[in-house]
Amino acid sequence: MVESKEFLKSILDTISKHIVVIDEKGDIQFVNRSWQTFGDENNCQCNTQWEEQNYLAICQSAAQQGDEFGAQALSGISQVINQQLTEYYLEYPCHSNTDKRWFLMRAVPFEHASKRFIVISHINITERKIAEQQVQELARIDGLTQIANRRHFDDFYKQEWSRCARLKHPLSLAMIDLDNFKSLNDNFGHLVGDICLKEVAKRLPDYTRRPGDLCARYGGEEFVLVLGNTQSHQAQKLMTRFMATLNTIQLPELAGYPLTVSIGLATIYPNSSDDAMLLIEMADSALYQAKEAGRNQLVVADNIEPLNIEKCP
Ligand code: GH3
Ligand code: MG
Ligand code: MG
Repeated sequence: MVESKEFLKSILDTISKHIVVIDEKGDIQFVNRSWQTFGDENNCQCNTQWEEQNYLAICQSAAQQGDEFGAQALSGISQVINQQLTEYYLEYPCHSNTDKRWFLMRAVPFEHASKRFIVISHINITERKIAEQQVQELARIDGLTQIANRRHFDDFYKQEWSRCARLKHPLSLAMIDLDNFKSLNDNFGHLVGDICLKEVAKRLPDYTRRPGDLCARYGGEEFVLVLGNTQSHQAQKLMTRFMATLNTIQLPELAGYPLTVSIGLATIYPNSSDDAMLLIEMADSALYQAKEAGRNQLVVADNIEPLNIEKCP
């Protein structure tokens, strides 16, 4: 009984991995029940039996339709067939209309009756992938303020610089620094200081709503706003509104002590050959001038005149 094909097939049918066996030409020799069921449930447009199809041709057709994972699977499995690889692994997304899903494909060869075959198994790794994504997401968020952290800013800014350079769009950057924050901490304690940082951070996303925008904690009591495809006068309007909003905050913990910020704003039409640090340095030096000029104000890098909130529309 143990030697019977049905007996072994019954065992393979109990396995939740989707299993397919192909020969050296890629012709499908066997699929288990999980494979069959997954195909049926996902509207595989297979009018023919799986055993009449060629797995490599399926990968090739997916690759021709622009599926990069189809191309990778084709190349990897071909290398196992040609004995250039002893086994091949591929993690790939396979999202349905309603759910995100990922699978791990493994291709390993075996010999039977002097012929070589490849077992290709697919295991659902969605839970692990979602957990990994959550960890990655957390690593990009500042723990105190719950907005993007410096690492996220660095990546985003680099991308936005290149995108604006390619599209010849203006890129604005605002450096925001809380005024006299050391004495605020000294007077009221670090916990109150933390509340102030959260209060400021909470309002920033209102000014960074477009896909090319990001607000982030740059470090300590400094925040940064990236405003893609935004000209200086548009960014000035946004930052003036932000300062005006901030001036209306009255935290009971501060007992009338003013919570204000100084802002350095710079705008550039990026050039891919320029160093992206240039705009950060421009905004930083504008911020320095805002501090020098008495704090609680916005200084625009290409227009060194400080714009007091009262003077702005
Ligand atoms: P200026 O107006 O020139 O910006 O003066 P400042 O006192 O704000 O600047 P300074 O750089 O002298 O001090 C910044 C302070 O910010 C010192 C530090 O204790 C505080 N700080 C940095 N990160 C945090 C934080 O996460 N929580 C709290 N409560 N304070 C922080
Ligand atoms: Mg500072
Ligand atoms: Mg400060």
